[in-house]
Amino acid sequence: MHTLNFNPNSKDYISYKKKIKRDVLIAELIKLCDIFYDEAMNSKPNLTVVQDNQNTDAVLFTDIYSCCHCKTYYDPYYGDEVNNIPAGTTFDQISDDYTCTVCSATKSSFKKVEV
Ligand SMILES: [Zn+2]
Repeated sequence: MHTLNFNPNSKDYISYKKKIKRDVLIAELIKLCDIFYDEAMNSKPNLTVVQDNQNTDAVLFTDIYSCCHCKTYYDPYYGDEVNNIPAGTTFDQISDDYTCTVCSATKSSFKKVEV
């Protein structure tokens, strides 16, 4: 028996194996530890990848622009669904015929927002 996610504070007991004989108990515990460390090793690389993506986003997507007429924001992290601009497109990469989704002001009406 062990707890959910091997959390020592958890009250959610999971039955690993029942009716283990006393003489094989130690062997079973070693097996259980191996399973635990295998899971820990497998889950770590995924966490690292997620963290890397977040860091990249933070560096690339800091330039937010705002329409000087109606204060509509263009955030490169989200892009612009109305104008078919995919997420991740920086304001510089948008074509010059881009217009504000709210008041139809031209691209030159947008000013960079200092964060
Ligand atoms: Zn506008």
